[in-house]
Amino acid sequence: MDVELLAALSNADAIAASEQEVRDIFLKEAAKYGKAVQFDALGSVLIRLNEHPGPKVMICAHMDEVGFMVRSIGSNGAIDVLPIGNVRKTARMLQPVRITTREGHKISGLLDGDASGENLRVDIGACTAQEVTEAGIAPGDRVTFASDFQRLPHQRIMGKAFDDRLGCYLLLTLLRELHATPLECELWLVASSSEEVGLRGGKTAAHTVQPDVAVVLDTACWGNNFDFSAANHRQIGQGPMLVLYDKSMVAPPRLAQHIADIARANDIRLQQDMFSNGGTDGGAIHLTGSGIPTIVMGPPTRHGHCAASIADLNDIASCHRLLVALARTFNAHHVRSLTDFS
Ligand SMILES: [Zn+2]
Repeated sequence: MDVELLAALSNADAIAASEQEVRDIFLKEAAKYGKAVQFDALGSVLIRLNEHPGPKVMICAHMDEVGFMVRSIGSNGAIDVLPIGNVRKTARMLQPVRITTREGHKISGLLDGDASGENLRVDIGACTAQEVTEAGIAPGDRVTFASDFQRLPHQRIMGKAFDDRLGCYLLLTLLRELHATPLECELWLVASSSEEVGLRGGKTAAHTVQPDVAVVLDTACWGNNFDFSAANHRQIGQGPMLVLYDKSMVAPPRLAQHIADIARANDIRLQQDMFSNGGTDGGAIHLTGSGIPTIVMGPPTRHGHCAASIADLNDIASCHRLLVALARTFNAHHVRSLTDFS
């Protein structure tokens, strides 16, 4: 595990459409392995891992995290902000945050929302609007939680933006492991823009790549973090989740079964999960063109859409092993069989 890379991804600040800090990490890694990078017009990063006349496979994770944007600056120095993405209501009160100005300066503050979770302001200690503007802050600046990445006991980690920097990390470990491996498909690694505000970059990236099959890497947490019953399929330390259903997509059974078979053959524990609400980039990707067989998987977390999440390094490592094994199985015959309904 490259925990330093995980930490860098988690600590990077990137709300929808302002994802350059994460994009820069992808650009640096792609350059290391001599891979050309393309973009869609929203800023999603598209890395073609290899050239192959066979089927195109797109593996996708989103770069953006939930956060806030500066809406206005009060005469009393209070900075009104708007949530960007679905920030959990209880995470809107008295949370350390940092503002990234358009010049790239970082300014610490405390997010102070009222009980409704609607009226949100960041306090940087200013007493006048002039003090705020003198600090370089202006409407449109982005605000993210200020939770530094940390190691916890027993191979666990804590940090912000695990949704979906864990997926971004997996894209980069695939790049590192498969960059020179012969495959029977053309593999595209896609870091998408603006998922948290409506599955936007996944849609434009899929339109650009036009894959024959897609794998979406994302994460989720369970409502009760200490529920270890059979109902909770998002338990950390119990292996990657394979998402069979969410509100935006139902997993194609053949592709889901294929992944379950690979997991079994490689001794990887899998949690077969369903999202009762929410969706992922898969919802947009699978409806591209005449439809694309798409599956969603990823490591589970505890806590989500808030200041910090907790995850297990073993789940991330297992997910990586599963993806490597999966990438090796995609070939013309197999991909064709996914859409043979005769
Ligand atoms: Zn996500």
